Amino acid sequence: MIIDRTRLASLMQREQERFVHDHPKSKALFERAGKSLLAGVPMNWMRKWAGAFPPFVREAQGAHFFDVDGNRYIDLCLGDTGAMTGHSPFATVKAVEEQVRRGITFMLPVEDAIFVGEELQKRFGLQYWQFALTATDANRFSIRLARKITRRPKILVFNWCYHGTVDETFITLQADGTTSARRGNVGPPVDPSVTTKVVEFNDLPALERALALGDVACVLAEPAMTNVGIVHPQPGFHSALRDLTRKYGTLLIIDETHTICAGPGGYTRAEKLDPDVVVFGKPIGGGVPGAAYGFTADVAHRISANDNLEDCDVGGIGGTLAGNALSLAAMRATLANILTQDAFDHMIPMAERWTTGVQQAIVEFDLPWHVTRLGCRAEYLFASAPPKNGTAAHDAMDFELERFVHLYCMNRGILLTPFHNMALMSPATSKEDIDHHSRVFREAAKELAG
Ligand code: PMP
Repeated sequence: MIIDRTRLASLMQREQERFVHDHPKSKALFERAGKSLLAGVPMNWMRKWAGAFPPFVREAQGAHFFDVDGNRYIDLCLGDTGAMTGHSPFATVKAVEEQVRRGITFMLPVEDAIFVGEELQKRFGLQYWQFALTATDANRFSIRLARKITRRPKILVFNWCYHGTVDETFITLQADGTTSARRGNVGPPVDPSVTTKVVEFNDLPALERALALGDVACVLAEPAMTNVGIVHPQPGFHSALRDLTRKYGTLLIIDETHTICAGPGGYTRAEKLDPDVVVFGKPIGGGVPGAAYGFTADVAHRISANDNLEDCDVGGIGGTLAGNALSLAAMRATLANILTQDAFDHMIPMAERWTTGVQQAIVEFDLPWHVTRLGCRAEYLFASAPPKNGTAAHDAMDFELERFVHLYCMNRGILLTPFHNMALMSPATSKEDIDHHSRVFREAAKELAG
């Protein structure tokens, strides 16, 4: 079936009218916000929500939230993974409440840090851990350390990756094989081609050619791409990636910030990967800012070998609030009580159920789309075949169609992430939540089919 664009535009207009009608208080707040916040939002990407303005949140609990107009939503966005634990999980809230009265930030260690380090050691198999406030920072610091110990200038990423606001990663591969700043890259400090090589995911010959020159400090990779839809690794990709990085003396940094959806030890444990460095942020503290990055004993030894005590506070790895007592209390409680195997045993079947619901509608209305899943994260893409790399996934994106489906869902009490078509399950997500989405998705497909 081919989507009729005129029909899509008129459906979109109808949905926008409904959205504006149902959100008078959010509209008033947005108008007020426009007088003190740039573009009326606290953060630039909040402009990307499909409604004429974003709904303002009143409160959230578990898998649901209410906006200021009293509309209730099933939250399948879950703060784009920051709230994968469900909103305000009890154990995290309790730990945070207790810690907040005993001091928030000290620049001194607390015992919770050791608990979290030990727990991460067990989950990911890497021995030494450090903390940051965001996954972006954990990636940036890992890259710095990789450069330092390898004494190499470049990093390598996969085309259409996303690892947070890390300057080196905002680069894309052109059709002619050259690289340039990614579309939308705001004020790059240098041409990212100076710092970074890019190859397509799953393209092992290109990876080897790029590493063979011996100037790549690290590969920074999600083990399955999750930020351009989901792109799974092909069989054998990870063992070859590991072999090639070892062969050419390049460190392998696996960014598990999203792929933690695969299980309590992320994709690394689920698929027995053997990285040099792991990064894990977003839901690690149940939504309280915090992130961790861990190294093998060998990497840790190489870091320590030319350590410089006098400059260790100004060497480019920092964050006054990093490793603060509040975020560590939140991480401890979240890891010990929320992001457990039991939770995944509930969340993964929920994602399977979601995938089945979407698949049924795709088949019923003969849509040229497909749906895929990674652990408790699932996603549909506007292409019939699963993409093999970032370019194929990116080419399948359809901003207009995406906005329509998102708004259609939002108007019927479902929040999807505003970027691509991702749905994430929390420990609190129920079968009823999923079945509501299946019904709404089917209705949207039916309307599109005409
Ligand atoms: N790594 C990955 C894989 C991500 O998807 C993101 C954010 N979407 C980040 C890192 C950065 O996380 P943050 O914005 O919390 O720093």
